[in-house]
Amino acid sequence: MDECIFCRIAAGSIPSRKIYEDDLCFCFHDIQPQAPTHALLIPKRHISSLQDLTPDDQALVGHMMGLMPSIAQTLGVDREGYRIAVNVGTHGRQSVRHLHLHILGGRQLGETMG
Ligand code: 5GP
Ligand code: ZN
Repeated sequence: MDECIFCRIAAGSIPSRKIYEDDLCFCFHDIQPQAPTHALLIPKRHISSLQDLTPDDQALVGHMMGLMPSIAQTLGVDREGYRIAVNVGTHGRQSVRHLHLHILGGRQLGETMG
C-alpha cells in the first residue's frame, strides 16, 4: 500500500507528530486540527475503512479502543472528556481510505454529530 498516506505515516516514511506506537497501531496529531486536541489512531495494517473489518479484526479493534484511556491521558483530555469519531465512506465524509479513529477534545465540543 505504497500510495496510502497513512500506511506511509505508520511506516515513518512520511513524518508525523507521533503520540503512541506499538506493533499493531500508530497514533499521531492530525495535520489540520478541528479542535485544540485532534489526534488519529490507525492500525499499521492497511484496512480501508471500518466497513472492511472482518471477525478476525475483533482483537485489533478491541486493542485500539482499549488504548483510548491512556492516549487521552497522554493528550491531557482524560479528565474533561473527548470524542471518538470514525468517518466511513462517502456519506461519512471519509477522505483518507485507511481506517482511522479521530480523537477530539481540548474544548467543549458541539452538540450535533451529523
Ligand atoms: P477523514 O476525513 O478521512 O475522516 O479524516 C482524515 C484526516 O486525516 C483529516 O482530519 C486530515 O486533516 C488528516 N490528514 C490527512 N493527511 C494527513 C497527513 O499527511 N498528516 C496528518 N498528520 N494528518 C493528515
Ligand atoms: Zn493504508
